Amino acid sequence: MSPTEHPTTPVLAAQGVRKSFGEKEVLRDISLEVGAGTVTVVLGPSGSGKTTLLRALGGLETPDAGVITIGDSTVDFAELTPNRRGRLPRAQREQADRLASHTGFVFQGHDLFAHKTAIENVVEGPVIVQGEDPAAARERGMALLEQVGLTEHADKYPYQLSGGQQQRVGIARALALRPEVVLFDEPTSALDPETVGEVLAVMRDLAQQSWTMVVVTHEIRFAREVADDVLFIDGGVVVERGAPEQVILAPREARTQAFLKRIL
Ligand code: ADP
Repeated sequence: MSPTEHPTTPVLAAQGVRKSFGEKEVLRDISLEVGAGTVTVVLGPSGSGKTTLLRALGGLETPDAGVITIGDSTVDFAELTPNRRGRLPRAQREQADRLASHTGFVFQGHDLFAHKTAIENVVEGPVIVQGEDPAAARERGMALLEQVGLTEHADKYPYQLSGGQQQRVGIARALALRPEVVLFDEPTSALDPETVGEVLAVMRDLAQQSWTMVVVTHEIRFAREVADDVLFIDGGVVVERGAPEQVILAPREARTQAFLKRIL
């Protein structure tokens, strides 16, 4: 299957991505393209490989094979040679890190530094990893907290914030790295139902501001309304991809139909 074609230049292109854990092949020849300023939603049953795919795109897993381009970096993972413990030689590690540096990652939650305030969590990456001037990073960080509606909570610690507020700090933190692609791994799945909406609202805003986003989620309504592309994966392969009107409202494949029937 050829990746979804985009009128805009892809910011992210992955071709033939494979990943096994021991004997288990979790990603089997996955390809995708993400156009600049578009939102791609990844759907699929539990255990289908969605998180592994996202982590591979974000440099948190090293694929066994596949060529991934993000921004101006390309890595052919078949050429990398991890040792038996999965560690890469230094030059290869740097290559993989450079690729990952074009992404920002939003986790399911509970991953903020507990001993740092909201603003400190947001500026940590730019200052420590990217070497940005602390005052400039703080100014940008405050603007990002304003964007996610948390200006008055900037000096609070995670335990003083609700789950939804913590997730919004997590989003501001990912954006602070000025990523070309923001990767969201089920950002609302660990939240109380009443706070899901505030996080989805922030994500809608980002989509409107033309951030390029790849989102793993079970929020079908969000996918229908916000996604430009939907990817349905099962058993580590892309079963169906296309516009939400097609994949969600008129799925062609039996596996997509069965999945949507279960969750709708
Ligand atoms: P999904 O996000 O679709 O629920 P995952 O990508 O989390 O799926 O997992 C796909 C499969 O890979 C599951 O069977 C899971 O147990 C396995 N898996 C994921 N990460 C690891 C790991 N680090 N070690 C071993 N198996 C893993």
